[in-house]
Amino acid sequence: MKYYSTNGNAPIADLHKAVVKGLAEDRGLYMPERINKLPKEFFDNIEKMSFQEIAYTVASAFFGEDVDPDALHDIVYDTLSFDCPVVQVKDNIYTLELFHGPTLAFKDVGARFMARLLQYFIRQEQGTQQVNVLVATSGDTGSAVANGFLGVDGIHVYVLYPKGKVSPIQECQFTTLGKNITAIEVDGVFDDCQALVKNAFMDAELNQHMKLTSANSINVARFLPQAFYYFNAYARMKEQGRADNLVMCVPSGNFGNICAALFGHQMGLPIKRFIAANNANDIFFKYLQTGKYEPKPSKQTLANAMDVGDPSNFARIYDLYGKSHEKITSLISGATYSDDQIRQTMRECYEDTKYILDPHGACGFQALADGLNPGEVGVFCETAHPAKFKEKVDEILGIDVEIPERLANFMKGQKQSVPMSKDFTDFKQYLMKQ
Ligand SMILES: *Cc1c(COP(=O)(O)O)cnc(C)c1O
Repeated sequence: MKYYSTNGNAPIADLHKAVVKGLAEDRGLYMPERINKLPKEFFDNIEKMSFQEIAYTVASAFFGEDVDPDALHDIVYDTLSFDCPVVQVKDNIYTLELFHGPTLAFKDVGARFMARLLQYFIRQEQGTQQVNVLVATSGDTGSAVANGFLGVDGIHVYVLYPKGKVSPIQECQFTTLGKNITAIEVDGVFDDCQALVKNAFMDAELNQHMKLTSANSINVARFLPQAFYYFNAYARMKEQGRADNLVMCVPSGNFGNICAALFGHQMGLPIKRFIAANNANDIFFKYLQTGKYEPKPSKQTLANAMDVGDPSNFARIYDLYGKSHEKITSLISGATYSDDQIRQTMRECYEDTKYILDPHGACGFQALADGLNPGEVGVFCETAHPAKFKEKVDEILGIDVEIPERLANFMKGQKQSVPMSKDFTDFKQYLMKQ
């Protein structure tokens, strides 16, 4: 499969290059030149298949030309060592729980898949040196990437995070791992971390010295595998005889997750329509209303993993539908919620059903509660476990959310990090010694 850039000014890339580079030379996002439709028989029998079997079929449609079938099978089964179940919350509203992975958020799926695919490509190039992944994080991305790559041979990960600016729960998820993961505690803010990473990629001497790559969420190997669990959601709903008028609702920030769902739809997945649920960062919502895409600085909200003022994957959605506002609005609608509304939804849902929503899932639940038509059945993504936002959830609901064992285990570990200034010369000097 070949990949082109959404900006249209970069050379066509193969999968290997698209994965290692992440972003195309013209700063556009890579798109597969074709989206293969899956056969009718697959959908006719999908409810009899396991999550992993379904995922392997979907993965073969994207990556089958470029990855050996046995290797792809292992990558998929190894990535999906946990389930993404569908749970009924009330009446016609179900949730697709995406928080059963190692770091309790959906980004585990993409990060684990990318780590294993990158390893596959490294092994093919005989005698190559170690690959170094640099990632800047304000919290969640660092933990998903670090855990996704943990123990993967031939790859070393450097996670740069702002000192004192990530929650203790988040910090322990990437500072206690050891092995091939190094946490770098930068005396600065998130933007400083990102600037260090960008400078490193542009520094010729450093790139001579070591092989550098990013594990950004726009990477095709991170975003496409997210399509797997939408097929599984459909299968599990079909099993219960509830898949006929399905509405899929995705709490969205950078729009990678919903974009993967839309790719699934292009492959034939019978979802009737989609809802993008936003917090107060309403750029996409406004685009749907007006046809104008106007990025803004992001606003801080309770659902902070969705605080994005210029969602990168809008470029992919725009490209997927031939830049047609009409096509986009005929399939996707939007919703936007303030922090007060998020709190109210969390309280009402808990009182009504005892289901504990996290602030991101709350936007999804409410968008279905507000937007479902008679006869429709809705599934929203629970993108993170409520314990990841324990302080907030406890305060809003007046409860003591139980911390799952795998999260508690991180908190028992010994924190190890390398202190770093925000000055690039210091960071470069450190890397040159590795
Ligand atoms: C990353 C994230 C989102 C937003 O997903 P996008 O793919 O960026 O739209 C939503 N919820 C949680 C918990 C996240 O970590």
